[in-house]
Amino acid sequence: MQILPEDIQLAGGELAVRWNDGEESYLPLERLRRACPCAGCCGEPDALGHVDKPPVSYDPARSFALRSYGIVGGYAFQPTWGDGHSTGLYPFPLLRQLGRAAETHPAQPA
Ligand SMILES: [Zn+2]
Repeated sequence: MQILPEDIQLAGGELAVRWNDGEESYLPLERLRRACPCAGCCGEPDALGHVDKPPVSYDPARSFALRSYGIVGGYAFQPTWGDGHSTGLYPFPLLRQLGRAAETHPAQPA
């Protein structure tokens, strides 16, 4: 079965995704943005296959705010961030993986 999001909601600085197998993922937006898989954020392999992660600067006031989002080609989630960045495509398995990882690192108690 292909894992697809059935419902995506923005709640309290997190993206809440309900998948078609019933599982739910919660993704803090900052984590999502820092995991942006686009070439501008992750770098592109050179001729030898080395990938140098480029320096990425974030504007804390805008970079971690989600302006809008869409589903692209039926396989990926594409957010548009508050600073206008929108070139990152998150294939659903990556989105789900990021959500899972978040669950294993619960927020520190206040
Ligand atoms: Zn990016």
